[in-house]
Amino acid sequence: MDKLQKCIDEHKVNNSRTREIIYKILLKSDECLDINQIIEEATNLYPKKISINTIYRHLRFFIDCKLVFSLQDNLKVAHYCLCKDEASVFCICTKCNSIKRVDSQLQAELLDSDFVTIHKKCKECK
Ligand SMILES: [Zn+2]
Repeated sequence: MDKLQKCIDEHKVNNSRTREIIYKILLKSDECLDINQIIEEATNLYPKKISINTIYRHLRFFIDCKLVFSLQDNLKVAHYCLCKDEASVFCICTKCNSIKRVDSQLQAELLDSDFVTIHKKCKECK
């Protein structure tokens, strides 16, 4: 949460409960989440309805702050994931379109990228 607070201070934006909730959702998920999964989680955590525009706005803020990156699946649907110190490797299944984190350590600095995607069939589809 420190990184988020730093970004909020730098951008001089107000604290927002919904922003915090969306960040927490991404923080506790190891896999990438698409917008529907984020909405579903948010509904469980927050009593009021958060509009889809609000969620997109917060996600855009996280991306601008380099706290979160987004990647697209084969259907060009965006999935969101928290940036880590090491680059994340994801396998996008060419058959069922699932995105799974691959246990691999790559130096993000060396790659100059927050993530790498591999396109191949997942275990279930093989
Ligand atoms: Zn598959």
